[in-house]
Amino acid sequence: MDSKTGIPRPQIQSLNDILPQEPLLMMGAGPVPIPERVAKANSVVINHLGPTMAKVIDQVKQMARYVFQTESKWVLGVAGPASAAMEMSAVNLLQPGEKILCLNNGFFSHRMAEMATRAGAEVHELHIPVHEAADPERVRKAIEKVRPKVISMVQGETSNTVCNYTLKDIAAIAKSYGCLVVVDAVCTLSTMPLKMDEWNVDCVITGGQKGLSSIPGVSLVAFSDAAWKVIEDRSSPLTHWCFDARLAENFWHRDGYHYTAPVSGIMALHEALALVCEETLELRFSRHERCSKALQAGIEGMGLELFIKEKEARLNSVVGINIPETLTAKQICDHISDVYRVEIAGSFGQPIVRIGQMGEQCREHNLFRTLHAFGSTMRDLGIRVDQPNGMAEMESYLQSTSQRRTRSVA
Ligand SMILES: *Cc1c(COP(=O)(O)O)cnc(C)c1O
Repeated sequence: MDSKTGIPRPQIQSLNDILPQEPLLMMGAGPVPIPERVAKANSVVINHLGPTMAKVIDQVKQMARYVFQTESKWVLGVAGPASAAMEMSAVNLLQPGEKILCLNNGFFSHRMAEMATRAGAEVHELHIPVHEAADPERVRKAIEKVRPKVISMVQGETSNTVCNYTLKDIAAIAKSYGCLVVVDAVCTLSTMPLKMDEWNVDCVITGGQKGLSSIPGVSLVAFSDAAWKVIEDRSSPLTHWCFDARLAENFWHRDGYHYTAPVSGIMALHEALALVCEETLELRFSRHERCSKALQAGIEGMGLELFIKEKEARLNSVVGINIPETLTAKQICDHISDVYRVEIAGSFGQPIVRIGQMGEQCREHNLFRTLHAFGSTMRDLGIRVDQPNGMAEMESYLQSTSQRRTRSVA
């Protein structure tokens, strides 16, 4: 019996009763489906210190260097969302009063400005028009005016589905003014090229639950030698103990204790990175591009409109679709989820729905189920779409780009 003064014991449902009988196909903007190998690894708990863990960590760093395309030693993990990796870059690279120029393409790239503000930095934001990639010459002018220590930008702005395809040029300009360049590659890492060393990027951040197809909650950050020097030379103490890169170095580079590492999440990340290495970056990039473009062809083939018209600025990792005037994002997302067991996403601030094309989402069987569910949803909700044509356009695109065909031509 619960005592009278105590807090009563809660009546809870078992997880089995809460989770849907038929799992949802996760085709939103993350988290994305995880491969069996990642799921299995995520059930492993071992000692967070000691030789086995040290071996795992060593391999995670080696594989991360390949995925980030860097030879820098300074790869670290963090227990937390991708935002924790972002916060790690902000609080370690900036001291109070120092200047950062944040390129703001939308919801996520603005987050870095919020974090830098809280870190006491002098924050300048360059607002990029919603449908456009950042323009290198505008960035150059802003750098000349502000003279920041750090500039931050996103490779793919998940909220409005814009790709900053100008990243490489912008990083080169920023470098020529001596700025440190921080890149948010949360939704793009391992889905499209990002060459940290070759492109002069000083810090790359990513999460687990998007391109890497791992679990949410364990993230990675890589610093260049130049960025690490700034961290080591820092004069004012960091207010964030958990995010202090020099303390994290104890665990990630010296087999020592910082805080108890998220052991099972690191195991999952290890397997996710191993799958990227086995596939190779080149083939993974082409799989992502091919699947996303096939989906885009299918959506347009149904008579619906993509949010980003300019092809170069259109992100492949997340596809944004204009919502017909008579509907809301919530109606569409609820219907496709309830009736077809496919989950897609609304957006932060834009009149669109979004379908993810990250990691395991880029598989042909997932594409067909998703496009069919999406077309059926639009029809069910009273929108006239040419669903057979959409499905056919997607199939044609896939056939015209199939690897078997490419090989027989060669
Ligand atoms: C999802 C996302 C984030 C935030 O990731 P969390 O794991 O939710 O913290 C940041 N930036 C971009 C570009 C994203 O897509």
